[in-house]
Amino acid sequence: MATGKINVSVENIFPLIKKFLYSDHEIFLRELVSNATDATLKLKHLTAIGEAKVEYGNPIIEIKVDKKGKKLHIIDEGIGMTEEEVKKYINEVAFSGAEEFLNKYEDGGKDTGIIGHFGLGFYSSFMVANKVEILTKSYKDEPAVHWSCDGSPKFTIKKGKKENRGTEIILHIADDSTEFLEDHRITELLKKYNKFMPIPIKFGTKTETLPKPEDAKEDDPAPTKEVDNIINNPNPAWTKQPTDLKDEDYSAFYRELYPMQFEEPLFHIHLNVDYPFNLTGILYFPKLTQDLNIQKDRIQLYQNQVFVTDNVEGIVPEFLTMLRGVIDSPDIPLNVSRSYLQADGAVKKISSYITRKVADKLNSLFKNNREDFEKKWNDIKIVIEYGMLSEEKFFEKAEKFALYPTVDNHYFTFEELQGKIKDTQTDKDDKLVVLYASDKEAQHSYIEAAKAKGYEVLLMDSPIIAHLMQKLETSKEKLSFARVDADHIDNLIKKEDTQISKLSDEEKDKLKANLEEVIEDKSYTIQLEAMDSDAAPFIITEPEFMRRMKDMQKTGGGG
Ligand code: ADP
Ligand code: MG
Repeated sequence: MATGKINVSVENIFPLIKKFLYSDHEIFLRELVSNATDATLKLKHLTAIGEAKVEYGNPIIEIKVDKKGKKLHIIDEGIGMTEEEVKKYINEVAFSGAEEFLNKYEDGGKDTGIIGHFGLGFYSSFMVANKVEILTKSYKDEPAVHWSCDGSPKFTIKKGKKENRGTEIILHIADDSTEFLEDHRITELLKKYNKFMPIPIKFGTKTETLPKPEDAKEDDPAPTKEVDNIINNPNPAWTKQPTDLKDEDYSAFYRELYPMQFEEPLFHIHLNVDYPFNLTGILYFPKLTQDLNIQKDRIQLYQNQVFVTDNVEGIVPEFLTMLRGVIDSPDIPLNVSRSYLQADGAVKKISSYITRKVADKLNSLFKNNREDFEKKWNDIKIVIEYGMLSEEKFFEKAEKFALYPTVDNHYFTFEELQGKIKDTQTDKDDKLVVLYASDKEAQHSYIEAAKAKGYEVLLMDSPIIAHLMQKLETSKEKLSFARVDADHIDNLIKKEDTQISKLSDEEKDKLKANLEEVIEDKSYTIQLEAMDSDAAPFIITEPEFMRRMKDMQKTGGGG
């Protein structure tokens, strides 16, 4: 047996590890399962290239809880380590990783802005254990090794008893961390971080019901058998080629990601790029309501199939955080704060790639099946309109497929709309005036009046529409929007007015005076005129800008 001292500059690093990562203790399991996965994948690679002359087989990773003994075991069948390797990788490499990590985060270790604490690795086990043992046997024909460390920088290393290739990590769980001896807590963590890792992870067994044999009597119980309880799906859809997946596979994966979501997504976008950065993933467009306080944090970020976070702020443009799905990229730096992230070149590229893919997908849906796209418009418009407001690049692309529905359920692109109304809806300055209603019922008589004059009326009822109209007005030269009850309508170039007033001048004056008394708000204008429709004898209008100011105050800033 040998003892040694880990080469430390800080006398005792473990209390520090505990202190700095206090809020994130649970990640130790992710780190250890990641190491077990790495060790297994390394063996796979070495056997594939003929470097390791052993059978790869069907290795799994097993997690075992020993509640009585207060121990947690993480067992893999990967490459294992020789004594030399333990000394090198555990005592030196892993440790230097831990030390580097601490030096870096001594000031801000608890900074919640840091995305993931990747990098601490093996030593994160000391956040929850007061003693850690490693029992390992290399695929090389060398004796097994038993390493043990009680949380001080001292360790022991001796020959171990282990027949099978691979590594077993044994954590002696500390008294303040006994939650990690609870089955449900371990299940929760494995499901959170390891649900899609590439090597099967076993945690206990489960009872599976088998089909009844043909000759079974009716009240014979169905036979059962105990099978491994495999926590993860090692081959999630996003790691496959889009050409190998059918629509059903995408729906099935959606349910796997969101077991509590019963509504089908509207469509998906498969992301797959390996240059100049590596990114895979699947994004889903869920049905969205008009509610602006839509719950975000639904896209999950992975690195090599290891869950990192479900807060993708700073990585995905904000308007797309309303979508669901996964993105997996090893190129997103994790040990940095979000503000740093936004300035990172790779992340910027990733963000604009995602924006472009989403725009391209929308465009192809629009082009390939316009009817279906129109049907979905109400459920997706909030994302598109928000995107047009907040991302200039997206605005340019969305011009092709953004739709403007009329009160009669016709859907026009802006270009189509322009062509349709340019003859009738211009004002004296040759400006195109687009009429719209925001509430079909409330503005019914105005809508009817406008339609009677031959004007098209759009239905614009999104909560951020006031902002979008302003954006359109500033990006197009001669354009203004006017709600059907705005005084603009009067400024439109009038077609021949053939109607004769139903009221005499005297009646008009009297009515006007009466109305002005009743309506206190002086921003309204009362116009008594012979409406071309029978819908109303008079109209009350308000300047567009006044009302829009009020609307915009209601929905806050939008871009
Ligand atoms: P990292 O995984 O980033 O290299 P860790 O601290 O997690 O850092 O692990 C340090 C090293 O210890 C690994 O690179 C690997 O060589 C070795 N190691 C850790 N766990 C295992 C394991 N289960 N099987 C084989 N080697 C391991
Ligand atoms: Mg590691």
